[in-house]
Amino acid sequence: MNSFYHSTRSNADAVTSKQAIREGIAPDGGLYVRDDLSSKALTAEDYLNKPFKEISRSVLSRLLDDFTQEELNAATDAAYGDNFDASDCVCTSPLGTDWMLELFHGPTCAFKDIALQILPWLMSYARAGANDKIMVLTATSGDTGKAALDGFANVEGTGVAVFYPAGKVSDIQRLQMVCQPGDNVAVCGVYGNFDDTQSQVKAIFADHELGDRLATKNIHLSSANSINVGRLVPQISYYFAAYNTLVQNGTISAGEPLEYVVPTGNFGDVLAGYYAKLMGLPVSQLVVASNTNKVLTDFITTGIYNRKRPFHTTISPSMDILISSNLERLLYYLSGGDCEYVASLMNSLNEAGSYQLTSELLEKLQELFACGYADDEMTRASIKKTFDETGIVIDPHTAVAKHVADEREVSGAARVILSTASPYKFSASVLGALGTDTSGMNGFACMDALEFVSKTSAPVQLSSLRDAAHLHEDECEREKMTAVVEAACARIFL
Ligand SMILES: *Cc1c(COP(=O)(O)O)cnc(C)c1O
Repeated sequence: MNSFYHSTRSNADAVTSKQAIREGIAPDGGLYVRDDLSSKALTAEDYLNKPFKEISRSVLSRLLDDFTQEELNAATDAAYGDNFDASDCVCTSPLGTDWMLELFHGPTCAFKDIALQILPWLMSYARAGANDKIMVLTATSGDTGKAALDGFANVEGTGVAVFYPAGKVSDIQRLQMVCQPGDNVAVCGVYGNFDDTQSQVKAIFADHELGDRLATKNIHLSSANSINVGRLVPQISYYFAAYNTLVQNGTISAGEPLEYVVPTGNFGDVLAGYYAKLMGLPVSQLVVASNTNKVLTDFITTGIYNRKRPFHTTISPSMDILISSNLERLLYYLSGGDCEYVASLMNSLNEAGSYQLTSELLEKLQELFACGYADDEMTRASIKKTFDETGIVIDPHTAVAKHVADEREVSGAARVILSTASPYKFSASVLGALGTDTSGMNGFACMDALEFVSKTSAPVQLSSLRDAAHLHEDECEREKMTAVVEAACARIFL
């Protein structure tokens, strides 16, 4: 029998995982959760001595149980192949006395590929009818847009439209999007900043007239953001994969607990680690690492979540977040599944900008999660120190986690630091940290200089952009975004 997902804010309407993936967010604004994670545990045979793809199949078949095994096999085959430049998609390598889980070997060189390469296939199989089309809309500050474009390109029954703030993303980020091939993709720069772009995308989702017009053509709008069950569940697999590697190489014996240090923004990645723990992975501690926007460090330390604070633009931009949406799922589990309590906290966050946990729940939270943060200066120092001591160049997001790991008391447990992006994605910041003056250098010049300094090669996914054709040079006023979406739907589906 299939089990069901329901909203973090109500037990009322149960949906299948296909519905949850199609809809993204519950109608009451809550996130989809399920109550039976501990009865979905993997056995050691499911993840020891197994390649990543097989571990992923075990995880997906437990939590997305209304998909057929054929569908999950086809989805994992399509998502996890030679589009990754590591033979097993992810790998776990030494980083000094710790380990680094390299999650950046996908087509866009950041960890979001692990979920966004498979989500489109899951969405394609989750369509209600074979004639239905799903158009995914995304506003991006840089990284997510490209990962969505690459994942959805040429996936049957789906299309993707990405809007980015014109002039406000890096050279390389713009090229990654502008050069995206595929018959079902649309990319458009928007005059304005990220918030303008994001709020207009939200307005398009809320535009019922547009929704009705598209529905008569069997087209449904959807989103690929990190609260979607179809993004969360695939991320669980690599926690098991890293564990497997350390057992295989003799660092730990099977059953011995492992510590994971996770650079955190929207709380999706580290929440997947918590799910892995509930599903039987021996985890001693999950460590939440933040940058200067340290709303989570303060929350785990004091039990008070307060988003009323200045927003900082940092050199780890994918973690520049003051509302960590996926935290709502943790609050649900922490409170023993108390929907009313979660709804009241989220209400308070909306209206007052903050909420406070009971002292009992704060204690539980602190048992499960440790935390720490690194500002930009500490992050740069961590990049430099890591390079000097190990010869390995890490990206600024990874460096935040490395700094937090280094600050912790050594417990004796083996540690895995999640490495979420290739340093070449952030060449200028990394070079700066290593002491090179990058003023006047464009994205490719920085890439070249980083190759020289680090004696490594830039990933082809990024260096090949130099010669790639520019396919999407359009830019538009915010008010024109709806028209761009409708034109894209007509071009792709009709
Ligand atoms: C998105 C992202 C993160 C943060 O992950 P969350 O799931 O939002 O916590 C960290 N590093 C990089 C490079 C990212 O792109």
